[in-house]
Amino acid sequence: MQNQISTSPGRASGGAAGLVGAHEPAAAQRHSVLTAFGRPRNPLNNRFVYAVISQRAHGLSIGVNLNPDKRCNFDCVYCEVNRDDPGQESRVDIGAMSVELERMLDLVQANKLRELPWFRHLPAELLALKEVALSGDGEPTLCPNFHDVVREVAYLRSRGTVPFFKIVLITNASGLDSPDTMRGLRLLAVEDEVWVKLDAGTQEHMDRVNNADVPLWKILGNILLIGRQRHIVIQSLFPLVNGEEPSADDIAQYVQRLLQLKNAGAQIDMVQVYSAHRPPHRPNCEHLALKALSAIARRVREKTGLKAQVF
Ligand code: SF4
Repeated sequence: MQNQISTSPGRASGGAAGLVGAHEPAAAQRHSVLTAFGRPRNPLNNRFVYAVISQRAHGLSIGVNLNPDKRCNFDCVYCEVNRDDPGQESRVDIGAMSVELERMLDLVQANKLRELPWFRHLPAELLALKEVALSGDGEPTLCPNFHDVVREVAYLRSRGTVPFFKIVLITNASGLDSPDTMRGLRLLAVEDEVWVKLDAGTQEHMDRVNNADVPLWKILGNILLIGRQRHIVIQSLFPLVNGEEPSADDIAQYVQRLLQLKNAGAQIDMVQVYSAHRPPHRPNCEHLALKALSAIARRVREKTGLKAQVF
């Protein structure tokens, strides 16, 4: 996630510590307010729940890390999660997560987040809660008790002890067709959102960027599956890999896949185009220039009629 600061469940930097899910890797912080803050830490000693200022959420996002074990079926070149360090438990302890989430929501509601060092000097508008994100140090739909997590978060919301909040699932789409995921998704309200990763329009490009165990055709099929059921946001990250930008054909094919999804009935509200900075353990990945990102977003708008925003 670009331009963000956070509390974090159990890691010194990167991953869910510094972002709304590892799908949104921490990047250099352009905003002067945010650069004033230090590395993400975990002042609340949480195992699952953290808070970040998220650029793409336009403010405060409370995250639930569904992958303390760092499990993922992608190995994105830009991923912030350092899997050389061991992960933790694979299942989310629902009781512990629920207590942490309620406590964090209470802190926000009581305007006490500011008492945590990383949030102390932020303007009030950045501390208004925008969402509760289901994300993590891996792919959240691989969490063995995904449905239970969604049910508990939705239940906490339904109790009405805190103001209504939007739930956002941030996913690489690979598990959207699993029965447990589908059961969980059925618990979401219309106000909730699913943000789905699509970084490439060809298998070759996807192999270069995502190194996934899952083929592109399955990702596209799952995006269509969820996009026909509910409105979605597409998240597309374009890094420089070994100093090389995505080629003109890479971009043309990517835009074509978006158009095909739209024409097949996927309800895509927004395409988020962004890049990543070099994770410490991935020296071949760098940030793509804003000019190139803007050109990609413009192409998406022109060729597909979809909304596209650069972050
Ligand atoms: S999909 Fe997996 S490998 Fe890629 S950024 Fe997200 S957590 Fe990292």
